[in-house]
This record gives sequence, structure tokens and C-alpha cells, in this order.
Amino acid sequence: MQQIKSFLNNRIEVCIGDITTLSIDAIVNAANSSLLGGGGVDGAIHRAAGPSLLEECRQLRSSHYPNGLSTGEAVITKAGNLPSKHVIHTVGPIYNPNDPAMPELLASCYTTSLTLAAEHKLTVVAFPAVSTGVYGYPKSKAANIASDAVIAFLKKNAFPQKVIFVFFKTKDADIFLDNAGFPQ
Ligand code: ADP
Repeated sequence: MQQIKSFLNNRIEVCIGDITTLSIDAIVNAANSSLLGGGGVDGAIHRAAGPSLLEECRQLRSSHYPNGLSTGEAVITKAGNLPSKHVIHTVGPIYNPNDPAMPELLASCYTTSLTLAAEHKLTVVAFPAVSTGVYGYPKSKAANIASDAVIAFLKKNAFPQKVIFVFFKTKDADIFLDNAGFPQ
């Protein structure tokens, strides 16, 4: 994992690497509403976590979310074989340029995930770029929404102490930094 920038007295870091390798309190999964795995970062997380994560997600489905998790919501589980202690699963919006609710739904992914982290007194939480892969959210727009939501939350809350934005590709981290609303 390569750290490229930090902001807000080091409470925000921007890194390049594979989110599944982080030994922290929680990594966020860009899940789909089924909670039963998928492609992209979701597939990578389930592959690295092993069958116990899928089993916990199946149980959550039958106990709390028979119809799946709604867009913009988040749930926390253990992390199976991952070095991270927990996984926070959130469902990003599938991008639709004609739907005015898009920014609010994407912001909600970050805010509800951070609310869970705060409730569990987690110190360090890492996010992938939710919705910007298969779900097609423009990376520049998503950068602005994600950074604003995280800054607003951290300013109001002591936990989590640190949020890491993780990008798989250097180019994606560059687009994020060019469009994020971080104070210079
Ligand atoms: P979504 O379905 O929400 O769009 P994706 O998993 O398709 O989610 O993509 C979200 C982002 O996660 C993409 O920018 C993709 O490059 C990135 N990504 C994929 N695998 C990893 C990984 N192992 N670690 C960090 N980021 C990843």
C-alpha cells in the first residue's frame, strides 16, 4: 500500500493498492444489494475473506434483509480470513444521469458506513471508490461527493480517527485528488 497524500491533520489518507491487504479495523465493500458477492472489489473481498464472510452475509439476508440491502445503506460483519477486523458492506447507486437522487445516495454510502464505524468505536476505516467501477458513477463527480461526506463526518465525530481512500489504479487516485474538496 502506497500512501500518496494526507489531509485534515492526517485523519484522511489517500493510498494506492489493494484494499484487501489492509490490517485495520474495517474495510468498506462496494457490495450489491444481494450481499452475496459480485465482481470488482466485492469479488476480491469475498475471495480473500473466504466462506465465513459469505455465510455471515447469508445469515444477515435471512434475518434482517430478506429483500437485500437498499442503496445507500450499510451493514457491518466480521472479516473472515482478511487481515482487517471487519467489513462494512454498502450498496452504491447504479449511475443514472437523469436521477437527481444520485449524489445523495452516494453520500449516504459514506455517511452510513462511517456512522457504523463510529458506533463500533473503530479507529481506522478504508473505502474503495464506491460505484465508480461496474456501477458507472463518473469518477470526478464521485470524488467530490465522497470527500465532502467524509470531511463533514470527521469534523463532527471523533470516531473513526482515520479514513483511508484506497485506489487500485494510480490514475484513479489522480482523478480523485483533482476533484476532491480537500482543503489544501
Ligand atoms: P461498483 O460496483 O460499486 O462500481 P466496483 O468494485 O466495480 O464497484 O469498483 C469500485 C472501485 O473499486 C473501482 O474504482 C475499482 O478499480 C476499485 N477496486 C477493484 N478492486 C479493488 C481492490 N482490491 N482494492 C481497491 N480498489 C479496488
